Amino acid sequence: MPAGEVAVVGGGLIGLFSAHSLLERGYAVTILEAGTLGGGASRVNGGWVCPARSDPLPSWGVVRDGMRSLTSPDSGSFFLHAGALPRVAGYLARFLASSGAGRFSRSWDELDLLNGRTAGLVDELVEVGIIDGLQDEGFLMLHSTRDEAEASWASLRAVSRRGLCPAPEPIVGRPALLELEPGLGDAAQFGFVHRGDRWLDPSRLVDRLAASLSSRGARFVTDTQVRAVRQRGTRVELATGSGVVEASHAVIAAGAWSEQLLRPLGIRGYVTPGKGYSFTIQPEHPPTHVLRLGDTHVGVTPMGDRTRVVGMVELDGTAEGLHAGRVDVMKRKAAPYLSGIDWRASTDEQVGPRPMTPDGKPLIGCAPGADRIVVATGHNMLGLSLAAPTASLVAELVVRGRAAAVPAFDPMRFTRRRG
Ligand SMILES: Cc1cc2nc3c(=O)[nH]c(=O)nc-3n(C[C@H](O)[C@H](O)[C@H](O)COP(=O)(O)OP(=O)(O)OC[C@H]3O[C@@H](n4cnc5c(N)ncnc54)[C@H](O)[C@@H]3O)c2cc1C
Repeated sequence: MPAGEVAVVGGGLIGLFSAHSLLERGYAVTILEAGTLGGGASRVNGGWVCPARSDPLPSWGVVRDGMRSLTSPDSGSFFLHAGALPRVAGYLARFLASSGAGRFSRSWDELDLLNGRTAGLVDELVEVGIIDGLQDEGFLMLHSTRDEAEASWASLRAVSRRGLCPAPEPIVGRPALLELEPGLGDAAQFGFVHRGDRWLDPSRLVDRLAASLSSRGARFVTDTQVRAVRQRGTRVELATGSGVVEASHAVIAAGAWSEQLLRPLGIRGYVTPGKGYSFTIQPEHPPTHVLRLGDTHVGVTPMGDRTRVVGMVELDGTAEGLHAGRVDVMKRKAAPYLSGIDWRASTDEQVGPRPMTPDGKPLIGCAPGADRIVVATGHNMLGLSLAAPTASLVAELVVRGRAAAVPAFDPMRFTRRRG
């Protein structure tokens, strides 16, 4: 006899990890997915399991980048479409309010409540064979000048003092960098290795998780959009196009699409799609480290026999639609750092909507007046990194209700502020 039946809305990383934790607690689980498993942001991502670089996005640097992109569309990696302003104004206003130094560092401390659990929980999943192919050869930070490398080194040294990674290795010049990675371009003059974060192929992870869940009795209902979720007494009802699904509990893990399910529950989360892009290149010398390319905010991840380039946060007010121009900007930014690449031959260009929140922290907690509906969304740029600790908290919330709530992730924090 299961402890209860949980309907999970959304088959992305947050929904799938939550399903895993709930099965572990003895619940029967059904995953309702509007499209295909991992078809939102989860398969598109960079694959970084990176508790050491989990600072929240809202900061003055990003605000500057966003402002610049309004007048110079090819400059920034945080790209705001002027036409989208009316749709994203509520998010942006609260983002600005979260960008001051005090708020930034408080949010970062709070994110570490989850980050601090990532490595241990991921290791457990490696042990039981759900996660495989986790790489830990280090992230190679590349810079065009010594000043830039020193500033980046100092900021990662400060990060290491938070206790989630070792101090970065010493800065080296181009000859030593070329010994580590022979395929570097001329812009890579100085750099250093930073350890503590790991990476994997997120698409493979989605498939392995789904197979493991299915073998333990989880039910998947794909191509089925949930239109509304409500609690009636001790049951929850999920309205879909093909009827109502009943369960003892529901988890809303609908990524960038979550807002439309949250609003009727009285939650104003300002979850906004921040589109990220990735594509595959075929380097003459495939990298063996994750590469971070100066201040471009473009990263390169080795994924088995493929090399994935990732980056960009684009706010255009929609969750779908790939703008080829954004891919071109990423290529232009990356090209000086890499040699031996035919950029026109890139493949697998994809876009995925990150579920952004104004303060960079996820919304995890019970819906107001509905203990049996648990919200787990808004993971911004960190959904893979934060999936395991989020899932563990989701399971606690299902088991213990509001008593398990962590105030830092209260889904109502923006609703209350504006009355
Ligand atoms: C280019 C890029 C690079 C990234 N790199 C990293 C990284 O290296 N490390 C990291 O930690 N994070 C990274 N991220 C962020 C990470 O991918 C996201 O935070 C994460 O995928 C969010 O997971 P999710 O399950 O909440 O959302 P999603 O993966 O988007 O899943 C939500 C799912 O819900 C479904 N859904 C929506 N509405 C409904 C509904 N009404 N009914 C039923 N189903 C519904 C959608 O179809 C979708 O499948 C990156 C993102 C991008 C785009």
